[in-house]
Amino acid sequence: MLNIETELHRCNRCGRCMSDCPVYLEETQESMTARGRLSLVEAYIQGKICLTHRFKHILSKCLLCGACSDACVAGVSVHEIIQWARTEITRKQKIRPLKQLLLQKFLEQDTFISQLLRQGLRINRQLHHLSKMPCPPKTTFMDNTSSFIPESQGGLRVGYFVGCIANHFFPHIGQATIHILKDGGCTIYVPRGQGCCGLPFFNAGDLGKACSLAMRNMDAMLKQDVDYVIVSCAACSSYLKDYKKLFGSDPKAQAFSSKVRDISEFLANELSYARRLKDKPFPAEAQTLRVTYHDPCHLKKRQKIFEEPRNLIQAIQGIDFVEMNAPDRCCGHGGSFHLEHYKLSLGILKHKMDDIKETGAQVVVTGCMGCLLQLKEGVNSEGLNTKVLHIAQLIDQYKGEPS
Ligand code: SF4
Ligand code: SF4
Repeated sequence: MLNIETELHRCNRCGRCMSDCPVYLEETQESMTARGRLSLVEAYIQGKICLTHRFKHILSKCLLCGACSDACVAGVSVHEIIQWARTEITRKQKIRPLKQLLLQKFLEQDTFISQLLRQGLRINRQLHHLSKMPCPPKTTFMDNTSSFIPESQGGLRVGYFVGCIANHFFPHIGQATIHILKDGGCTIYVPRGQGCCGLPFFNAGDLGKACSLAMRNMDAMLKQDVDYVIVSCAACSSYLKDYKKLFGSDPKAQAFSSKVRDISEFLANELSYARRLKDKPFPAEAQTLRVTYHDPCHLKKRQKIFEEPRNLIQAIQGIDFVEMNAPDRCCGHGGSFHLEHYKLSLGILKHKMDDIKETGAQVVVTGCMGCLLQLKEGVNSEGLNTKVLHIAQLIDQYKGEPS
């Protein structure tokens, strides 16, 4: 568990992380720098300031992307301090009633969440006329997928954690993940007891609900005695690995988190899938595909996974891989940040879109559902022909027929 006061004292206010903060780069106010936010948190702990609207607003204007923590020469975990402060606010004041109600409904899952996401999207569209976010399909991934997909080759037993956005917005990405896991010889469980990973609650500072959702997911997966829990959203995989922090030394949480693998990590390291891809026969159209890759913050900064997706993409013969400028610059989605600070979110996205355009890539690949939503919105808003694909989609499309 992080000792907040010790961590705060480690920040020497040098300001070297300023140029890495996507919010500061847009707003250029000292209060939006990491040191500015940390000074406020310290003043709050010392009783010099109270929970003013301005203080809460400054804390909410953080993507929790971790770019500052990554850049910090003193190793200060800035995003964890900001997260802690948000939890403190929730503990003292409780979440705003409407936000609390909406988040609470995540617990009821399935039918309600579809409606919630659809309504949320419609409201977002009405509020922001420029919004070009995709509409969720009529049926979910869970509606159309068996809870058990056997494999006779005696391969690894994996549980697939779908996540809310893949389940409701991108069921085809879930299907692509299943195809690849099958191709890799895995026996696949898709436990029905799973639901939201709980990250929206955690980010909002509601630890009680975050823990109850985490417990439900752990029970659903561990019941199947799987070797690994596979996740195709970087935000979810990063957070599922953090369940062990949420529950301290609880052995169940330790066991669960140790089994979690992001899909690109699992394919590259456990299945040696890059080698398989190199040996596969490929469709002719793959020869001309120029591809670039956006590093999700939750994958590169939180999990240090960045070589694996590149190795997989580059293993697909005929793909002309080109790095964009600053591939790990945050796209500006940040979950509810996108809705709460819409204009700012789009301002941050603009830089990412400029970097993508400069590559001349036909396809931009990523591994986080929030990034996918954001990049698709960017591509649609700018009227580009660039395709935005999840890494599982790219691999599924170009892996050739099962061997
Ligand atoms: S976590 Fe990201 S948005 Fe928040 S202060 Fe750090 S760099 Fe800025
Ligand atoms: S968080 Fe680190 S890099 Fe940023 S101001 Fe503090 S010590 Fe400097």
